[in-house]
Amino acid sequence: MEELHKQVDPEGITPRPNPGMDNEPLEEGLHKGLVVESTGIWTQVKLVDDDSVVSSRLPGRQRLEDSDYAHPIAVGDWVNIRLEEDGSGMIQYIYPRKNGLPRQSTHTRRQSQLLLANLDFLWLVQSARQPRVNTRFIDRCLVACEAYDIPVGIIINKLDLARRTDKEHLQRVIDIYAEIGVPTYTCSVLQEDGLEPIKEQMGGKVSAFFGPSGVGKSSLLNALDPELELNTAPISSSTGKGTHTTTYALMVEPKGFPEGTMIADTPGIRELGLVGIPVEELSHYFPEMTEPRSRCKYSDCSHLHEPGCGVQEAVKRGKITQERYDSYRAIYDTLKVPEEY
Ligand code: GDP
Ligand code: ZN
Repeated sequence: MEELHKQVDPEGITPRPNPGMDNEPLEEGLHKGLVVESTGIWTQVKLVDDDSVVSSRLPGRQRLEDSDYAHPIAVGDWVNIRLEEDGSGMIQYIYPRKNGLPRQSTHTRRQSQLLLANLDFLWLVQSARQPRVNTRFIDRCLVACEAYDIPVGIIINKLDLARRTDKEHLQRVIDIYAEIGVPTYTCSVLQEDGLEPIKEQMGGKVSAFFGPSGVGKSSLLNALDPELELNTAPISSSTGKGTHTTTYALMVEPKGFPEGTMIADTPGIRELGLVGIPVEELSHYFPEMTEPRSRCKYSDCSHLHEPGCGVQEAVKRGKITQERYDSYRAIYDTLKVPEEY
């Protein structure tokens, strides 16, 4: 592990304060809390007052108010609730979000739902082998993080499986992402190696771990706190009304971390939706393309084949890596596909 060096100082990535974290006094009868699970009608809110979790609902009309999202409440939202006589909560106010990660809706491709709100840090988890690092996956997620304003870092697990040639490749990967300001952490959960810097970065933050299956996410979370009860498969839960719903995200508090540390899990979510990103704006979410783009001959340049393209020129001169440019092209193709109805 010593041979791999990192160039980005994660200390420089400071989360903005959470929208619900001011200490404004609340109106009589209201309680402030964090949404830790949401299954459609019922939303679990963890109250700041006493850490109790209250099953809460949104008043009918508000459920539809935010037309951008099929579901106007997300795990990670800060809310005010009023306690009803039966002990349930009625959500009165949703604090403005500092960011939100959408997921592609399963019902219609046009409407999206928020998977998580107010994330301080998203970890993209990969492994050195079984499966190998997938930079296309990373780049697609980085577009989402850039577009939705979410600080992000990469974890490459299973370093114990890496051979000499793998390490050369891993160093290349670390360098590519360091170049655009994304820190990479290497670790081996099996050998309990490299976990401390990850723990340190998580302290006091709301983090989520995201990655393909088999890279060691459950093993990692288990190593961070053996009592965490997180699942990597979709969780079906039974609501008070007896209907079964699927949880797409939930949030837990790991033990042995500073106050305010939360881990969001997104069971069953395999891909981040690039919702609301027009294909002609894709290059805006590749930070290294900002400057070269200003030199394109055509203002509507797609940076794929046009003459006088500053981006293609920057790739030739090595200012933009070939790997990242290839990802741009691949993601461009996926965004270009017309929506099906
Ligand atoms: P998830 O699908 O991402 O949650 O991955 P799991 O945590 O279920 O791990 C997948 C497999 O990788 C399991 O067999 C783990 O024992 C194994 N694994 C996890 N971490 C490591 C590691 O650091 N090194 C090695 N060699 N195997 C690991
Ligand atoms: Zn161009």
